[in-house]
Formats: sequence, C-alpha cells, structure tokens
Amino acid sequence: MALIVQKYGGSSVADAESIKRVAKRVVDTRRAGHDVVVAVSAMGDTTDELLDLANEVAPIPAPRELDMLLSSGERISMALLAMAIHSMGFEARSFTGSQAGMITDSQHGAARIVDVTPVRLREALDEGAIVIVAGFQGFNRDTRDITTLGRGGSDTTAVALAAALDADVCEIYSDVDGIYTADPRVIPKAQKLDHVSTEEMLELAANGAKVLYIRAVEYARRHGVLIHSRSTFSSAEGTYVLGEGMKNPREAEGAVMEEPIVAGVATDFSHAKITVAGVPDVPGKAAEIFKIVARSGANVDMIVQNVSATGRTDISFTVPKADAAAALKSLAAEQNEVGFQNLVHDDQIGKLSVVGAGMRTHSGVSATLFEALSAGGINIEMISTSEIRISVVLRGDDLAEAARTVHTAYGLDGDSDVTVHAGTGR
Ligand code: ADP
Ligand code: ASP
Ligand code: MG
Repeated sequence: MALIVQKYGGSSVADAESIKRVAKRVVDTRRAGHDVVVAVSAMGDTTDELLDLANEVAPIPAPRELDMLLSSGERISMALLAMAIHSMGFEARSFTGSQAGMITDSQHGAARIVDVTPVRLREALDEGAIVIVAGFQGFNRDTRDITTLGRGGSDTTAVALAAALDADVCEIYSDVDGIYTADPRVIPKAQKLDHVSTEEMLELAANGAKVLYIRAVEYARRHGVLIHSRSTFSSAEGTYVLGEGMKNPREAEGAVMEEPIVAGVATDFSHAKITVAGVPDVPGKAAEIFKIVARSGANVDMIVQNVSATGRTDISFTVPKADAAAALKSLAAEQNEVGFQNLVHDDQIGKLSVVGAGMRTHSGVSATLFEALSAGGINIEMISTSEIRISVVLRGDDLAEAARTVHTAYGLDGDSDVTVHAGTGR
C-alpha cells in the first residue's frame, strides 16, 4: 500500500461530469489499496472569472480581499468532489488550505509555503477517509489571513502535501498526457517525454511551459518529491520529473533511457520589452535604471545593452506584461536624474527557449537554433543563455512558426498530432 497525492487541475474538474470522472479515478486508486490525498483546483476558468469580477468592482482590488475571493474557487470544487466520492460509497473529507495546515508567508497573491502541519489530514487518513484539499491557498499565522500561492499554485499545494505526508508519488493530472517536447497547443507534433530532470523542468516552466508550476518543481527538488505528470482523460503513463539521484520507476521494468541533448522547446508570450534609449554611457547608469525598475516591483528577465558610438547607449530589458506599466511609470518619473532620452514600450514580443541538459557537453546546439531561425527568415531581437538553455526574443507573431521550425530542426517532431483533451488554455 502506498500513499499517493493526486492533483487535478481546472480543466479536469470543469463541470459535474468531469468531477464524477475524477471521483472515479480517485476511488479506483483507493480500491487498489492506496491511501489517497487529492489537491484540487477551481473549476474550469473560475479563477479568471473571479478575477474579472474583482476588476469590475475595483480597478486595483485589495490583495487581502482578492485572496478571499479567489480561494473560494477551490472550496467549490473540493466540496463537490467529496460529495461525488460519497455517492460512490466511499468516505471522503474536504479541507481548506488553512484546515490542511498549509502555512504561508503573508504575501497575498504569491505566498510561499513556509510550513505544512497536516494534523487533520493524518487523522482523516487514519480513519480510512480519502482526503481532499483545496489547492492554491494557505494561511498566514501573523496576519491570520487567507493567502493564495500564485496562478497555477495548486501544483505547489500537491507537492507540499506529498512532502509533508512523505507520499510515494505526487501525480499531477491535467488535460495532456504528460510533459511534451513543446506545448502541444503550439506544436501538435510534440512528443511525450518519458522523464525530464528537475533542472530541465525548472527551465521549461520558467520559460512558459505552464504544464507544471515552477514553484512546485522547486519545492519538489528541495524536498525530494517524485512528480508524475499525467492526464485525467486517459490512463496512459505520463512523464516523471526526476531530481538528482532519483530512480526512474520505469527503469525497473527494463526500459532503456537514452538522454537526448535537447529536452524541449518552450514558448512564452507573457513578457514585454522596455527600451531605455539614449542612456549616458558612464559607469553607474545601469545600476540606477535597474534599481528604479526593482523598486517598481517588476521582475526583470532578459537584458541587452547596445554598444555606444556617441557617448549614449540603449538598454533593453523584458518584464512580465503585467509589470510593464509600473516599471515605465517609475522610470519616467526619474528621467532627468538618470539622463536618458526616451522610453519605448513593446508588448508584441515572444520568447522561444530551447532547453536540454545535454547542452553542457555537446557543441552546435546554438548553431542549430540560429540556422533554423535564419532559414525561416525570422529576426532575433535578444538572446540569453544559461548552462542548459538558449532563449531568443522574437516578434510575437513569429513565435509559433519559429517554435515549429526549431522543433523540427532538433529532430523532436513525432509522427502524429497530440490530443489535447480539454480546456481553453486560458
Ligand atoms: P491545469 O489546469 O490542469 O493545471 P494547465 O493548463 O496549467 O493545466 O497545464 C496544462 C497545459 O500546459 C496543457 O494544456 C498545454 O497546453 C500546456 N503546456 C505548455 N507546455 C507544455 C509541455 N511542454 N508539455 C505539456 N503541456 C504543456
Ligand atoms: N485556480 C488557480 C489558478 O487558476 C490555481 C490552479 O489552478 O493551480 O491559477
Ligand atoms: Mg496548471
């Protein structure tokens, strides 16, 4: 008998029928003799709809109240799932994040889990119940307020529960069969990966592959949790995310694991580019600019500085689209102090990233990328690299086509198109 944590995303519990399908899967796991703890997301697009509603009543909703509102989405699905399981003759008990002991810091909208005290969950398991926990939410001890963990945060709930309860595996269910070499909505010929390393998954998630939430992968790495990403809509085996020293459960079955050089391609439309033009080319200006940007709360991703011919230079950087307005406002307010000439805002960019641990030991990986883009007539605006990733910023309109071209160039195309079972991808 194992202890299995299962997480079901919004598209897996979008309506009553889907909730019954999930209930059946949970009950099947229980019938197989396992203890089951389920983390559940809000139904379908509920979180987006609640956000829209909040923005209708207030231009900038109060963070505390926004968390109160958004956390209600998961309460609905957890109770419905428990009811559906009861009606199949099994005992199930639902818990909010705070009842489950999900203790976080106090940062509304992006709270971090600092402790998990699953006393009530253990009691329920000991009494033979299936445990259902509302994903995405926690509780801060100092403020005594409800917090949320950031969009996609139910994945983190599941991983944190798996760590706290010492579960055998954390299964993350969504509308695709696992982790693919690219987002199947962008590249239908993407192929499912048998496994991916935590470090590769972190790079993919950080660069647009929202199939797993980055903080959940970080948490799994720190706590040694085995993640199995798989689909609610099929019984196919999914993809294991393997931390250092972790054994692939399938290796025991004699599968031969060949490590590809490139694990996958990620696409990201969520950033905007800001150019600070005509910056005096003297020491200290970059520090001034990025201090201002940091104070605005914007999270800088890529940076390039052009060579200066005239004693002035342009500095461009990318930030999440949602942070751009604040960064621009702060920079504009200090234009005279910094002495730059003007600001340009461009939210029509896309980022394409190629990720693979094999890059450390193989040459020519970047040459393949640049050749493929050049053959496709696609212009590159910015480049950045890590040890296992190369990213380029392109025109947003070119991104999907560029991703397909690059995917083909690395030999990642499969023979047939992937089925994406549900959801809107919103
Ligand atoms: P959930 O609502 O279950 O949390 P998400 O929408 O957050 O599901 O994540 C699943 C989606 O992630 C898929 O529908 C797919 O479009 C997208 N995705 C992006 N990159 C990848 C990838 N490399 N492999 C699989 N899915 C991906
Ligand atoms: N419901 C939340 C969201 O839509 C959390 C999650 O689904 O993981 O972001
Ligand atoms: Mg998700």
